[in-house]
Amino acid sequence: MEPNELLNYKEPAPITDKENPFESMMERFDVAAEMLGLEKGVYEYLKTPVKQIIVSIPIQMDNGEIEVFEGYRVIHNDILGPSKGGLRFAPDVNINEVKALAAWMTWKCAVVNIPFGGAKGGVRCDPAKLTPVELEKVTRRYTANMLDIFGEDKDIPAPDMGTNEQVMAWIMDTYSMHMKRTATGVVTGKPLIIGGSLGRREATGRGVMMVTLGAMEKIKLKPKETVIVVQGFGNVGSVTAQLLQQQGCKVVGLGDVTGGYFSKKGIDVEKAIEWVKTHKVLSGFTGAEKITQSELLELECDVLVPAAKEDQITARNAPKIKAKIIAEGANGPTTAKADPILKEKGIIVIPDILANAGGVTVSYFEWVQDRVGYFWSLDRVNRRLERMMTAAFNSVYETAELYKVSLRIGAYIMAIDKVAKTLKVRGIYA
Ligand code: NAD
Repeated sequence: MEPNELLNYKEPAPITDKENPFESMMERFDVAAEMLGLEKGVYEYLKTPVKQIIVSIPIQMDNGEIEVFEGYRVIHNDILGPSKGGLRFAPDVNINEVKALAAWMTWKCAVVNIPFGGAKGGVRCDPAKLTPVELEKVTRRYTANMLDIFGEDKDIPAPDMGTNEQVMAWIMDTYSMHMKRTATGVVTGKPLIIGGSLGRREATGRGVMMVTLGAMEKIKLKPKETVIVVQGFGNVGSVTAQLLQQQGCKVVGLGDVTGGYFSKKGIDVEKAIEWVKTHKVLSGFTGAEKITQSELLELECDVLVPAAKEDQITARNAPKIKAKIIAEGANGPTTAKADPILKEKGIIVIPDILANAGGVTVSYFEWVQDRVGYFWSLDRVNRRLERMMTAAFNSVYETAELYKVSLRIGAYIMAIDKVAKTLKVRGIYA
């Protein structure tokens, strides 16, 4: 989001489905932990965050009054390396949500084999109601409160809901002022001019495209014969649709918050991107006919990419899904109750912690470039991303075959096993 877009930020719609995406995640964690025969102590260790910080952020608002916001940072696990995870500014964010999101990051980093642990941060505020000056004050005071937590070798934030490149730049600057040196590697998702990485904006969608091609190959689907539907047309959805179309796939369905859009003969994704650049949303797009959100998810297709939000594929609509592959661009788009239904139908689900890990992978590249002080070409970023996503996809696939489980449980088994084995080797310091 650009700074002025932050001002238009709307509170996310409440989750209507009864399942909580984080409980859904922990349910899968439990299944994987049991399959691994994790001993009780290790299980407890992996469930418990290593650090939880709550700070107060008093700000003098533009009208002269003082308001106090609450800020959080949870480090779920740092056994694999410095912890990594986004910073969320939202009116309803709370410590429990941040705790769950931090755990999610631990598994995601472990799946793609990057040397990071998992963390997440949040500030309970409504960025839509803050002026740019107030937003900067909140960010800088939050950072000042986290000076002992953040650090290139300790804990590295990134953007998430309600935060953007500019917020990351303020974090980097505040931290650098206190350290009395320019510390670019303390945060990722920065503007290019202060040490951001080429290719980061497209990284998540590019990663989704790569693992989708991997899954298609497993079931011998050639791009030219593959029909795609993408729900969500923001950063992740639009890049995924664009790149899959460039690979030769036919995109018949797109959707965003305004509804679904369908064309049997295929939608010109470039035109849709142009449309959204001018109109912000797909509404009114003339290159396809309007359908409902549920019709979109239930379209006849080979690959469905939910890239909008959590809890979209539930026990209610899972029986009606016709795709052969679901590539989870969003975090938690499938509820735990939908999993067995999709499995029964033989649908391959590429789980979020693998499918959308391209973003954190290029964040890792950004951190590496900052630390070395040498910046890569876009081509090098993309080649390395491809290498890591392909390796992760193959490892998850092999683990799933070995344990005779879904790719999702395979991914959790792989991640938990890696963290647990690292813990065994390092030992418990007492
Ligand atoms: P975004 O804000 O750029 O786009 C979200 C899109 O979803 C928009 O097109 C919006 O209109 C649409 N949408 C919102 N509510 C909807 C609804 N109820 N029904 C249908 N469409 C709806 O967000 P993004 O960065 O593309 O993130 C999308 C998902 O991917 C989120 O779950 C996010 O956590 C996840 N994710 C993003 C990244 C990243 O790098 N951006 C990385 C990992 C995971």
